[in-house]
Amino acid sequence: MPVRAPRICSCGNIVPSNERCACQIKRDQERKYRFDQTRPNARKRGYTAEWTKEAKAFLKANPNCRKCGEPASVVDHIQPHRGNMRLFWNKANWQPLCTHCHNVTKQSEEKRLGI
Ligand SMILES: [Zn+2]
Ligand SMILES: [Zn+2]
Repeated sequence: MPVRAPRICSCGNIVPSNERCACQIKRDQERKYRFDQTRPNARKRGYTAEWTKEAKAFLKANPNCRKCGEPASVVDHIQPHRGNMRLFWNKANWQPLCTHCHNVTKQSEEKRLGI
């Protein structure tokens, strides 16, 4: 790496050209931390082993797609739960759907919401 003149960071520190300023490192760490906090992973949204078990039992009891009557493979939330655990676990809000109908439902919902 060629040696360049040190630069002055926006925070006022003089930083060797091939290094990052402590303020940048700190900012990166904070950004990563925030990202880890907000990253919507499936487990956080409620899709746990418990859900898999409950969904399987639900599909066993309700084996046909509510829309087209084909074998259902997805438990859909009638009203989107958006992380609301009460809606999420409320079986009155569940419906069995086949993959096809689930995709169609999801797409029209996203269209409605302008996603
Ligand atoms: Zn700095
Ligand atoms: Zn269907």
